[in-house]
Amino acid sequence: MSIFKFPALFSKNMAMDLGTANTLIYLKGSGIVLNEPSVVAYNTYSKEILAVGASAKKYLGRTPQHISAVRPLKDGVIADFVITQAMIRSFFLKIQRMSRFFKPSVVICVPTGITQVEKKAVIEAAEQVGCGKVYLIEEPMAAAIGSGLDVFQNKGRMIIDIGGGTSEVAVITMSSVAYCESLRVAGDELNEAIIRHLFNKHKIYIGENTAEKCKIAAGSAIDIPSLESYTLIGKNVITSTPKEVTLTPQEIRIAMQEPVNAIVDAVRRALDKTPTELVTDIYEDGIFMAGGGSLLRGLNTLIEETTKIPCHLTQNPLLAIAMGSGIALDNLKDYKKVFIN
Ligand code: ADP
Ligand code: MG
Repeated sequence: MSIFKFPALFSKNMAMDLGTANTLIYLKGSGIVLNEPSVVAYNTYSKEILAVGASAKKYLGRTPQHISAVRPLKDGVIADFVITQAMIRSFFLKIQRMSRFFKPSVVICVPTGITQVEKKAVIEAAEQVGCGKVYLIEEPMAAAIGSGLDVFQNKGRMIIDIGGGTSEVAVITMSSVAYCESLRVAGDELNEAIIRHLFNKHKIYIGENTAEKCKIAAGSAIDIPSLESYTLIGKNVITSTPKEVTLTPQEIRIAMQEPVNAIVDAVRRALDKTPTELVTDIYEDGIFMAGGGSLLRGLNTLIEETTKIPCHLTQNPLLAIAMGSGIALDNLKDYKKVFIN
């Protein structure tokens, strides 16, 4: 039975964390109901969408010639409008039938540096699927709310959101982002650093998914003696035959050092540019860190050592942004000031 023939009478309000790596949807009254990779697989000739989300991620790096698996938001911006819109539509329809009579409100979380054109594309995508009012919220703001911080206070708070494609270091005070340092270095860049290292040092090719597994299993930002070595299989650059390589945690850490340092430098720069009074506030409460990339072992310790400010990992870094958007959705009136459109 087609969902389009029998639309629901009512559809519920939603909040969406449209991330470069993962998309999460919070449904009013139900909490987080969808958590899938932001990946779309489509036929390159007909442009027909073949799979979206978790089922499309499996295609990454292993598609036949006429199929392309892409991450439409990869670098923090909407690289491909049409595909992004198709993805949003598919996710919305996965969780509920959209009503023609009652158009639900939706809170959508976007990167701080988003352009007007990108804002419009996101809003249009939601409207096309049948959403009514669209509220945009900046990712670090949502991360702060989701981390339980009181964003309305006249007090400086630093929140770092390390996603797949972008990291944002923001200082929030009185319900707005006072300063934000955005960089296109985050979790993905760590994977790519591992890929480059294996190519340069071990002369093998590996895919994104393999590199990510390696990072999660044995990667760290500081020396952690209890970590074990990691063995993976890649393709010999010259002979194209499979080759096994075992990496020590130290080798992985050094391979990722450059992007890790870039993130730490961004935190330092943000502190540099933040007014003294706000830095004093941040010192009192500590820095907060959310987003999947913040799960890299020892990253908070490295930031602590560099800045001399305590750095806390949010309770559930991968969910914090969606939870924060959900809280704003549940209290639209109270959070009016945090929306940017
Ligand atoms: P986005 O908001 O851009 O969608 P997420 O907040 O979902 O990104 O985080 C995705 C990133 O987090 C990926 O780069 C992934 O490799 C990384 N990640 C997830 N879990 C871990 C982990 N345990 N250790 C290190 N990195 C992780
Ligand atoms: Mg995110």
